[in-house]
Amino acid sequence: MIIPNKEVTMRVFIGWGLYLVLLSACNQEHSDISAFVGAQIWDGTGSEMIPNGVILVENGRISEVGTGDEIVIPPGAEVEDLSDRIVVPGLINTHGHVGGVLGLESGYYNRDNLIRQLRLYAGYGITTVNSLGGDRNEGKILRDEQDVPDLDRTRLYIAGEVIAGTTREEALEILHDNAELNVDWMKIRVDDNLGSVPKMSLDLYSAVIERSHELGFKLASHLFYLEDAKNLLRAGTDFIAHSVRDVMVDEEFLDLMSRSGVCYSPTLTREISTFVYENRPEFFNDPFFLEHADRDVLEELSDPLRQKAVRENVSAQGYKKALPVAMENLKRISDAGLPIGFGTDSGPAGRFQGFFEHMELVLMERSGMNPGQILRSATGQAAKCLGIEQEVGTLQPNRWADFIVLTENPLENVRNMRSIESVWIAGNRVD
Ligand SMILES: [Zn+2]
Repeated sequence: MIIPNKEVTMRVFIGWGLYLVLLSACNQEHSDISAFVGAQIWDGTGSEMIPNGVILVENGRISEVGTGDEIVIPPGAEVEDLSDRIVVPGLINTHGHVGGVLGLESGYYNRDNLIRQLRLYAGYGITTVNSLGGDRNEGKILRDEQDVPDLDRTRLYIAGEVIAGTTREEALEILHDNAELNVDWMKIRVDDNLGSVPKMSLDLYSAVIERSHELGFKLASHLFYLEDAKNLLRAGTDFIAHSVRDVMVDEEFLDLMSRSGVCYSPTLTREISTFVYENRPEFFNDPFFLEHADRDVLEELSDPLRQKAVRENVSAQGYKKALPVAMENLKRISDAGLPIGFGTDSGPAGRFQGFFEHMELVLMERSGMNPGQILRSATGQAAKCLGIEQEVGTLQPNRWADFIVLTENPLENVRNMRSIESVWIAGNRVD
């Protein structure tokens, strides 16, 4: 029998006591509370702007939000004066890709490159990205590490490998590997790339959806055609990851959407990326783009031979025709009051993370949505679409303090989302 040494126990006890006294003294000197004061706050719920707003942040999460008259700023809080500014929640991309692309090449799926991409998104105010495919263990590790108050990069959610097997065995094998990776979403591709490749069959994707649900995973669907969208909704998909782009959506589709409550991610800039490099795009002169652009990549994309190839590429020209259809469908879906989850499909080569999200906002406005609707789809609604509304998406108590400080009001014009003065993640200023 081991008899505890009384002297040692006592010393340990005194040691702990001293530690706790010092700790509380420390806390009194350096409060962990930050107070962001003086800004107009748009909280992402759809409520009116809060004038002269205050946000209190404690351990990376919001503890209180309201007007300067309502909220008492605790003594010792670190105060950030945001007078004349507008604060909105950090944007959420429900369909991006954080992967192995570096410049125009693939094959760099590693921690440093993933962090580089997450910081790039952050710089543009996109503070959460749902990476829908191509995700591996390094991405899973970053996701598992992100619920901390000192986070200084965009939050990442993952879908693992896209499921598109030709046989049931292949498809289920990918599904089970993804389950082992503990992905946030399963993702399937139901598309023939404008008739150029075989499409996953109804039987097969129904089986995949069923198995995903049995294992407790939600499933997102890549699609193009209206008929597939309807069948996927009937088969139980939990997310529509692209616009319907072949024909106008009809009442039957709107009804299926409405009954399922499934979100729709427009990814209009995905179409842009397929044909825009047939010429030198205007945004190659845009300082907001150039700030983070790699000049070698621009050079390569401006190569006349490459441009000619895009002009002559059948699928590029096919997707160009699909864009106006997608935009009109977005307006219909928005008018029907169905949930839209802001998404771009950025990340693959030529789909510039961060900048393309701002291009998407403008395309949504051109489709006929108003700035309030667009911003809701990119904040509170996007979070709901992903099932993370208790964590991010709105500026409400207990959510992570992920927000953007702007100098211009984005509710007047969505292009004002570019007037970023600073971006904060878990209450930390991101460079
Ligand atoms: Zn995608």
